[in-house]
Amino acid sequence: MSLEYPQSTTIHQIPSANGGPLHRHTHTYDLIRQCIHCGFCLPTCPTYAVLGVEMDSPRGRIYQMQAVADGRMEVSAEFVDHMYCCLGCRACETACPSGVQFGKLIEAAREHIQLVVAQSPHLGEAGQLGQLPTDVPVARGGEQYPLHTHIPAPATLETPTERLLRRFFFDFMLPSRLITSLIFAGLKLYQRSGLQALVHRTGLLNLVDSLPTPFQGKLKTPEMLMPDVGGDLLPRPLPEVTPAQGQTRYRVGFISGCIMDQVFRAINEASIRVLAANGCEIITPPQQQCCGALHTHAGETERGRELARHNIDVFEPYDCDAIIINSAGCGSNLKEYGHLLRDDLLYAERARNFSAKVKDISEFLAGIELNHNMGEIQHTVAYHDACHLIHGQKVKQQPRQLLQAIPGVKLVNLKEADWCCGSAGIYNITNQEMSNTLLQRKMDNIAATGATMIATGNPGCMMQIALGARERGMSLDVVHPIQLLDEAYRASGLYAVPTRDITVEEKRRRRNVLVGAGIGVMVGFVLLCRRYRR
Ligand code: SF4
Ligand code: SF4
Repeated sequence: MSLEYPQSTTIHQIPSANGGPLHRHTHTYDLIRQCIHCGFCLPTCPTYAVLGVEMDSPRGRIYQMQAVADGRMEVSAEFVDHMYCCLGCRACETACPSGVQFGKLIEAAREHIQLVVAQSPHLGEAGQLGQLPTDVPVARGGEQYPLHTHIPAPATLETPTERLLRRFFFDFMLPSRLITSLIFAGLKLYQRSGLQALVHRTGLLNLVDSLPTPFQGKLKTPEMLMPDVGGDLLPRPLPEVTPAQGQTRYRVGFISGCIMDQVFRAINEASIRVLAANGCEIITPPQQQCCGALHTHAGETERGRELARHNIDVFEPYDCDAIIINSAGCGSNLKEYGHLLRDDLLYAERARNFSAKVKDISEFLAGIELNHNMGEIQHTVAYHDACHLIHGQKVKQQPRQLLQAIPGVKLVNLKEADWCCGSAGIYNITNQEMSNTLLQRKMDNIAATGATMIATGNPGCMMQIALGARERGMSLDVVHPIQLLDEAYRASGLYAVPTRDITVEEKRRRRNVLVGAGIGVMVGFVLLCRRYRR
């Protein structure tokens, strides 16, 4: 069955961005020209496997980029759709015999698109384009993974609401630790006040999701992605300096991340304990900001550069031996600051030096003499390769080595461990159908292992796989490998997790905040419903 796009698809022609990266005589053009069109990458591309469309393969996307760069093709809404349908998983890079750096290419294409979008007020209608026929069954590996519709990413939309959301997320929320903290505090309250359970039990979520708003049918997945988040509502910054346990062997900088520090604070705390147990003095500068990975991957490159410059300024004075990150997507971006700021006279060399120091935490620990003072813990674990770790950073064996070094951990083989789970930054929110198709494939493979625990080095993958497990009613713990090392060190008595001293007054204060915010959310919701009824 042909899965080509319907011939009736309208194409809105939009002029190319002046000064955007898709032009001849640019660094990006040299990267494009490295492709020899051999097609070795096609079988590794998840979107090509699902859609069977050349234009949604790495080779097809590179063709289109070159056509735009040569001036043979305008930046059409269909081009936008193909570029944002890409997961950015970079599996094609691993397969490519010609060394094509596809991650850099797709980021450049999206930067170019965003420059065009900023110049064109007419792109809003593009949201109706690029639709595949409904209920198309897609055969793969003898099983059926239905893809009902192919929904373009919001970047193709320019309705005032979509634009506002994009600007809020990239310009306002992510760069500010305070705003990010407040938003996640609200989400935690929503969970802990019992409101989320009520919304689910009463079917309110389905009702709101079906209302004729710009987000119709798109609210449920983001709402359900958020795991049960423990810890403080407004977590305090991590300590700026954490001394090494015993003799100091290394001085390392620690990137705490933006969303990571709000949703997975426990992993950050475990990372610091494990590093300290391995002779590291850990510096976590409180002035650090979001690394800009989500910006750069989505084409918001200028904002990504601003964040990169800020973080270089912040970390440089500490003169660390290494800069450690426990999130694969962020690590991949931090290692490319040198590329991102290559044309910046003031920062190019500093960015290269910064990137050279960046190490994923598993890569760092596997490269030093590991502290083997671990107690036995009993877990059967499958390991899922985060795309930005295995394809983006070529870190494959190190996390497995660490897991195998833990007494009592049985590591079982996961089929297609390096195949994208569909998380891909914000892809599981913007391209929900494709994301869910890939998630089902991943969950089938996980279920076949019989493991009760899955370990992976990226928060996005953790949330996505945990969602898949909840939907299937599977009993599956989703952890970061570093949490297992931390557990093993605790089991040996090397250290204990500090208990929190929460006074009665503090508990009362929190309860008041909780009730107040719960009432606020409910009043807001009632007002919203009244507005829609009018
Ligand atoms: S990206 Fe690499 S593998 Fe794919 S067609 Fe081009 S040269 Fe071949
Ligand atoms: S990055 Fe992933 S989805 Fe995009 S073209 Fe390459 S393999 Fe396909």
